[in-house]
Amino acid sequence: MTVQVTLLGTGSPLPAAQQAGPATLVRAGQALLLVDCGRGVVMRLAACGVLPVGLSAVLLTHLHSDHITDLNDVMTTHWIMTSGPTPLRVIGPPGTQRLVDAVLAMLALDQGYRQAHHADLSYPISVDVIEVEPGTVLDVAGTSIMVKPTDHRPVEPTVGYRIEHDGASVAIGGDGVPCAGLDELCAGADIYVQTVMRADLIGRVASLRLREILTYHSTIEQAAQTAERAGVRIFLPTHFLPAIAPGDEDAWRALAAAHFDGQIVLGGDLTAVSADR
Ligand SMILES: [Zn+2]
Ligand SMILES: [Zn+2]
Repeated sequence: MTVQVTLLGTGSPLPAAQQAGPATLVRAGQALLLVDCGRGVVMRLAACGVLPVGLSAVLLTHLHSDHITDLNDVMTTHWIMTSGPTPLRVIGPPGTQRLVDAVLAMLALDQGYRQAHHADLSYPISVDVIEVEPGTVLDVAGTSIMVKPTDHRPVEPTVGYRIEHDGASVAIGGDGVPCAGLDELCAGADIYVQTVMRADLIGRVASLRLREILTYHSTIEQAAQTAERAGVRIFLPTHFLPAIAPGDEDAWRALAAAHFDGQIVLGGDLTAVSADR
């Protein structure tokens, strides 16, 4: 297995009993990468046998609350399970350092309580932030991470990540509508992970605030068109809005299949896909 993608959370900001918030785990060679930190992420990592202390890096696509709400839990759990000063690496768009500084301030009281109680916990929570721009290429544990721009306006900046190892590639599109940067991110990728919405369902609800969400996310059809245009091998939708109702999987799949000839993997939290080469 060269690269494996696990959907840790397939939910959205709307509370749901069975869907954790947006988060995706990518295993690529020696690298263990967590993309976004939505509601319940540490629980879902545990279900995969992964502890925050085992992560090579955390990648953030953007700083919307549903993607960062449990970053504090990742940071704290990482810290209390280290045996010495070990920074957690957090990669994200400009603004990520400011976010991490604010989370550290939020955790300051707790850090003090724990350090007062445990003499060996003499070192503070440590986070190594790398702010990235479109075009940035990083190497994390022998795996290449390329950064491309996405379009989730008015949220700016937002980025997608292309993770490559040993000839296999995963494109993490995050939230957003189709754009040239997303096409570049996905070109020829083995696996394409994308936030998707159902315009036919959301467009009918009474709440204007909910309907407005459609303007800056890809519909399932648009994401399938991106996958087809880019020649993707496996389309892995996530961050479903609304949540997939029991028995409605075929309807979601049919909307995508009308635009994409490749493999569609449609599933809830902990759905995993491998790209073998
Ligand atoms: Zn967003
Ligand atoms: Zn989101």
